Amino acid sequence: MTRAYNFCAGPAALPEAVLKQASEEMLDYQGRGLSVMEMSHRSAEMVAIAEKAEQDLRDLLGISDDYHVLFLQGGASQQFAMVPMNLLGEGGKADYINTGQWSKKAIKEAQRFGEVNVAASSEDRNFTYAPAQDTWSLSADAKYVHYTPNETIGGVEFPFIPETDKPLVADFSSTILSRPLDVSRFGVIYAGAQKNIGPAGITVVIIRKDLVGHAPAAVPAMLDYKTHADAGSMYNTPPTYAWYLAGLVFQWLKDQGGLSAMETLNRRKADKLYGYIDASDFYSNPVQPDCRSWMNVPFVLANADLDKTFLKEAEAARMLNLAGHRSVGGMRASIYNAVPEAAVDALVDFMKDFEKRHG
Ligand SMILES: *Cc1c(COP(=O)(O)O)cnc(C)c1O
Repeated sequence: MTRAYNFCAGPAALPEAVLKQASEEMLDYQGRGLSVMEMSHRSAEMVAIAEKAEQDLRDLLGISDDYHVLFLQGGASQQFAMVPMNLLGEGGKADYINTGQWSKKAIKEAQRFGEVNVAASSEDRNFTYAPAQDTWSLSADAKYVHYTPNETIGGVEFPFIPETDKPLVADFSSTILSRPLDVSRFGVIYAGAQKNIGPAGITVVIIRKDLVGHAPAAVPAMLDYKTHADAGSMYNTPPTYAWYLAGLVFQWLKDQGGLSAMETLNRRKADKLYGYIDASDFYSNPVQPDCRSWMNVPFVLANADLDKTFLKEAEAARMLNLAGHRSVGGMRASIYNAVPEAAVDALVDFMKDFEKRHG
């Protein structure tokens, strides 16, 4: 068996050590005689797995007791709705920053529940930068400020955490755990797991406790943060196996030296790839350099007619999922935590060789 290098944007690569441990424990979890998948979510074993996962995530991010950590379903897309349903009150107003396709979806969903002020947008330059905060027009009566720290499709990342006296709400789906983060700056952080946390099917929500319990009465129980906070994310059957795998990833991150170690490694991986792209006339990346994502690196070939050949040859060289998002084309290498530096080295070598032969 040889595993390929997987640059998929999501569901994305998982650490090989995690997959190995999961496979060893697949049929018989720690001598209990059954798989984690087959356990009651109320069993002592599963409750221990769930509690350890939460504690490890709290340790990694330094999350204080002022915050609930919830493990939910529905993906980041469900959070696009849950955030306004829980925080807007009846027809309230919120500020949103529009930096690309994921912010747009969040905005569209919030508009169902109240008034959205788009306080800043980077659409004027095709979403290739994060608007500096001194250009934002925030509203005095907003219930919260929402932004997307890393736009997975455009490969644009905020180089700063916005300043606001309102609860700051952030869709961290594709950059959570890529480096240390000051959680205390945020009201709500949410992330679908399938980029940097674990398999698809589980969603992490880190929410300041005072923001829970304000949903209007019509909000269904399943969409009210309070329901899940009160029930330890076990109001109904949670995605137990995905929760277990996320826990293995958190443990793996601790074993790697935590988020400072990941920061060093991720910076080096991104620098290598952008460094080569910038040095070459054959490849290019359109994003303003200080806003380039460490996790998602889109690039185009000087001659788009070569795109198909590039992808075919990359696949033959065991480098998978390098096609850009269907909405933008070109290429995209997602280099999340679980993508080893050797994969980036191999990709750069392949790109150099491809340029030599086709440039
Ligand atoms: C992938 C992604 C989403 C969508 O996540 P789902 O879990 O599929 O709903 C939303 N926002 C960002 C930034 C993403 O990367």
